[in-house]
Amino acid sequence: MEQTFIILKPSTIQRGLVGDVLTRFQRKGLIIAGIKMMRLSEEILKEHYAHLVERPFFPSLLKSMMATPVIVAVLRGKDVVNVVRAMTGATNCRVAAPGTIRGDFGMSGQENIIHASDSPENAEIEVKRFFSPDEIFDYVPLTLPATYAPDEL
Ligand code: UDP
Ligand code: MG
Repeated sequence: MEQTFIILKPSTIQRGLVGDVLTRFQRKGLIIAGIKMMRLSEEILKEHYAHLVERPFFPSLLKSMMATPVIVAVLRGKDVVNVVRAMTGATNCRVAAPGTIRGDFGMSGQENIIHASDSPENAEIEVKRFFSPDEIFDYVPLTLPATYAPDEL
């Protein structure tokens, strides 16, 4: 089954929203395949946000992502990359639709609660960047047959 990668950003840790955000993914029926807390280094952030390194807001983004440890996780499910991006909402929380995580929990373009991989290709790269293979678990929750039709699995 497809995997995606998420970061619960320092804004989520600081504001005590870790449970609320994770609960949404669990209620949706996604499987947590890996989860841990870590501090992000400048080095890993420059890799992770390589597409933004030249942007004027990058130093501020760097500082924001290093303000506290973060929680990183791997989520598993059918079409999970698209499902999680849809649940995440637009980058700027003030524009993100109500009902999305950013739309419901944030007010900022930078302090926007969560990172989520934007394509299956990037998800694979990001999972490898933040997790070693022994930190990702393959198991079948008892709820799976009630979550999907047989031909969806
Ligand atoms: N960001 C920012 N200002 C901007 C654009 C992005 O601070 O004008 C931050 C924001 O935290 C965002 C992250 O940089 O989540 C990565 O940007 P990207 O365009 O990849 O947005 P995302 O994929 O997170 O929606
Ligand atoms: Mg992005």
